[in-house]
Amino acid sequence: MKVPILLPNIFNHPFTYESNINLKVGDYVVVPFGKLKITGVVWDEFEKKNSKNFKIKSVLKKLDVDPLKKTTIKFLNWFSEYNMIPKGMALKLVLLSSNAVENLQKDTYKIFDSNITNNSIKLSEEQKKSLKKMNISNQKFRVHVLQGTTGSGKTMVYFEALKNIINKGFQGLILLPEIGLTSQFEKKFIEFFGFIPAVWHSGISKKKKEIIWSGIANGKIKVVIGARSSLFLPFKKLGLIVVDEEHDQSYKQDEGITYNARNMAISRASFENIPVNLITAVPSIETYENIKKGKYSISKLEKRYQNASLPSYEIINLRETKLEKQSWLSKKIIEKVKLHLDKNDQVLFFLNRRGFSPHVLCNKCFNSCSCPNCSINLVYHKNRNNLLCHYCGFKSSLKRACAKEGECEFIFSGPGVERISEEVKRKFPEKKIEIFSSDTMNKKDSKEKMEKIINNEIQILVGTQLISKGFHFPSLNCIVVVDIDLSSQGYDLRGAEKNLQLFHQLSGRAGRTGKPATVYFQTYENNSKMISEITNQNPDIFLDRELEIRKKNKLPPYQRFISLILTGANESKLEKEAFNFKNFIENKIEGKILGPVNAPLFKLKRNFRIRLLVRGPKSMKMQISLAKIILKYKFSSGIKLSVDVDPINFN
Ligand SMILES: [Zn+2]
Ligand SMILES: [Zn+2]
Repeated sequence: MKVPILLPNIFNHPFTYESNINLKVGDYVVVPFGKLKITGVVWDEFEKKNSKNFKIKSVLKKLDVDPLKKTTIKFLNWFSEYNMIPKGMALKLVLLSSNAVENLQKDTYKIFDSNITNNSIKLSEEQKKSLKKMNISNQKFRVHVLQGTTGSGKTMVYFEALKNIINKGFQGLILLPEIGLTSQFEKKFIEFFGFIPAVWHSGISKKKKEIIWSGIANGKIKVVIGARSSLFLPFKKLGLIVVDEEHDQSYKQDEGITYNARNMAISRASFENIPVNLITAVPSIETYENIKKGKYSISKLEKRYQNASLPSYEIINLRETKLEKQSWLSKKIIEKVKLHLDKNDQVLFFLNRRGFSPHVLCNKCFNSCSCPNCSINLVYHKNRNNLLCHYCGFKSSLKRACAKEGECEFIFSGPGVERISEEVKRKFPEKKIEIFSSDTMNKKDSKEKMEKIINNEIQILVGTQLISKGFHFPSLNCIVVVDIDLSSQGYDLRGAEKNLQLFHQLSGRAGRTGKPATVYFQTYENNSKMISEITNQNPDIFLDRELEIRKKNKLPPYQRFISLILTGANESKLEKEAFNFKNFIENKIEGKILGPVNAPLFKLKRNFRIRLLVRGPKSMKMQISLAKIILKYKFSSGIKLSVDVDPINFN
């Protein structure tokens, strides 16, 4: 018999093979491909036009693994078309690596034995009501949103819903932003279910991945908690997907194979015809629109744990109090912080800037230190005593021959967390202070540090955005936003939404155990209106207005954007190519082309970047027409195109 077999490579179609073995759709097989032997999957359709006259080769063997489900295959076909990714690359997301499936070890997944034990956790009346609403029409595809302020006990509600599904013999998937996959969360899970969940993210070992993969394919593992890539696991009997922190923008994969894991989770649920629950404190603008249209059902939790109230807000206008030289913290804020520390409150100084200083320049020649590979300033990291590019990793020492004479004399303009931490140390020398950023918290000793923070052995934190993500610090009752700058949103249509999410998440870290908490905003801007809007306890007001703006300006979620980025090492060649490419595709696609313009980050890793943005109605016609015409265009050598459907970042 002849069979179509899809291989995990850059081709968008299956290849035709001959087989003596009886094969059906979804079977995993090993086939020869050129000089290699690779694992592929029997696909649901032959290649449409068999243009090339290859000699048809034979399937080498069928692997002893439960077949990939037809619904999953349909989902992958759709996934590939929607995101403009070759089908083979979509399959690659499922197969882990070229021979992983062939070498699976059986029966090692027993560590994930899933016998639910009883726990003593009792839901509140509000939680019970929410759960009841969530469980309506649980037998088929539907999207339910559970919205609740941070600390209101959303997790327990969806854990109950999941328990229900597992008891019926199904598997469940909980998606979390990568950074939310903490041991704190795992502990909570074990407390509730009484067994260890299979945890899946980019950091786990290859061996562990193979064990989990195999347990998922044969249905022995019941629950996976995973980052976005867990969405492509070959579940045998998936019954529920939960997307926790659904608003989190890190669900969007920006590089390589680009897709939005939250949206794809909803699609996968629809293909599998199972329910999906979206969990959030403040819904993303897309989700909010679907709630308004009645497409998604919703339940809300409004009470916080132990009736804790949300933190109050105070704006400290820096125009009214003069800062001392080389200081970024006003007298007023230091006094406030003192009062909190006296009450044994933990304090967080928030500044979303890693390192010591974001801008270093010479006092004599006035030249800035910028990255030779990217169009961006180098950041000075005092801890490592070097200048670092946060985009390409370029490093350099703090030494440079001066254009005037001798060596440059550097001055540091503006603070990063390291610099703020130094100032805090001067002000509170007797307190324990820790920096909380990706530079300090991804190390081996970070588990120890976390324990100390939780136990309030560290009284003051100086942190970046990393700290806004899902951590539970019981004593944290004071947050100081060192510099709230809402003006630099220019090119980013999602800037306002990003700020809303950031400050809601951030303030959700404070006052979690019932003590009164305050968030202080230091600012030069006269933007008290904006601050009160993004910190309003009822985010719907902000979201409603934001939707209106998006509608008026034909922006997502009312229209679809597809971003096309051309990169190349030769600036003028790239510019010409961008115009040629635009002329070639214009009028042949469903949608209007904006650009070409230089990307805000014009040079990245030695390549120049030019953007085109295609805007059109939300229909697959846009992707199909675009994919067709791109195939016909011959790019000059050295020029690369990357496509991003529904872009989130515009840099
Ligand atoms: Zn760089
Ligand atoms: Zn100089």
